[in-house]
Amino acid sequence: MIDPAENQTSGKNVLIENGKVAAWLGSNEKAPEDAEIFDATGLIVAPGFIDLHVHLREPGQEYKETIATGAAAAVAGGFTSVCCMPNTNPINDNAAITRFIIEQANKAGFANVFPIGAITKASDGTELAEMGEMKAAGIVAVSDDGRPVPNAGMMRRALEYASNFDLTVVDHCEDKSLSAGGAMHEGMMSLLLGLKGMPALAEDVDATRDCQLAEMTGAKIHIAHISTKGAIEAVRNAKARALDITCEVAPHHFTLTDEAVEGYDTNTKMSPPLRSKEHLEAIFRAIEDGTIDAIATDHAPHHSDEKNLEFDRAPFGITGLETAVGLAFEKLVHTGSINLTRMVEMFSANPARIFGLKNRGTLKVGSVADITILDPDLKWKFNVADSKSKSKNSPFDGWKFRGAAVATIVGGKVVYRRKY
Ligand SMILES: [Zn+2]
Ligand SMILES: [Zn+2]
Repeated sequence: MIDPAENQTSGKNVLIENGKVAAWLGSNEKAPEDAEIFDATGLIVAPGFIDLHVHLREPGQEYKETIATGAAAAVAGGFTSVCCMPNTNPINDNAAITRFIIEQANKAGFANVFPIGAITKASDGTELAEMGEMKAAGIVAVSDDGRPVPNAGMMRRALEYASNFDLTVVDHCEDKSLSAGGAMHEGMMSLLLGLKGMPALAEDVDATRDCQLAEMTGAKIHIAHISTKGAIEAVRNAKARALDITCEVAPHHFTLTDEAVEGYDTNTKMSPPLRSKEHLEAIFRAIEDGTIDAIATDHAPHHSDEKNLEFDRAPFGITGLETAVGLAFEKLVHTGSINLTRMVEMFSANPARIFGLKNRGTLKVGSVADITILDPDLKWKFNVADSKSKSKNSPFDGWKFRGAAVATIVGGKVVYRRKY
């Protein structure tokens, strides 16, 4: 068992009662007679993994993904909880939509779904959304992901307002005046491929601006899908000044560079884009030194008809729920970049802390029995055709991995078991 939140790595067993962790049992302690036993010999029992950043497309674009298909993909990938971005249709900028998402998630079962509300009404950057009402309905954070608040004055008001409700602001850092019309990272590759670039600077300036606004307002900012050296530097400096700033990285950003765009596969098109090698190296340093707090997928399902367009016309985004754990094992743990405890922390304890999800991200007695069971050595291949997601837009089809989530337990119920 590994529980980074409790500083625990041990051979203890976890006793679950009524959906909660009831006790930790040593190897000599017996489970109650009627207890159902899950034999995790040779496996790692970890707190349930929490994905801070997914797009579930419901309401409005159910042909791409529904809350039920997204939640099924989540548990198949080892996630017990997902936090879904508000850019649905209509946008989750009011309590009625928040309640609808929670109802659909309860009907679907599988994973816990925590909605993220919009910062501004319709995420258009002009008028603040009713954060208090959405919080009462169940949102866990606010974000205008994909349509970042363009104006510093509005962002300042948003941060002050969100602070009143103790809500973390999730920040997609992109100054669109620098990146508009771009399809990939701006650099040598965009030049070679003849595609319009999105400069790293677009992310850097927005991240730097918002770190300064966090300092001014004292608000909590979580930077989404960090991908540039400059943005990482801004976060590192902010943390050194003890500001309330955290950040996440998406698995594709520690796995691929812009060289993957050669061949114009639209499954290498996402926002922020795959960056060049120097940024990838900065990401690794930031994962290793703790500047990056969490791994989040930015799971963004799109229909194949949309992804089959020319590169510059195809939508941004890839699916990620079922490949995140495999990529983290392959690229971070088995390479020696970080150890397994740190990986578990980036998927569980830290995400729970960032959004203030009480009694989750830990196996301490009394917490919700959300558990991810890992086999660090399982060899497997990802076939996108078998994905539980409704969309198949993954650049990792056919990739081979060592290390996987083999069972997912939500509220004490086994909701997924990998077939060997
Ligand atoms: Zn985003
Ligand atoms: Zn996103």
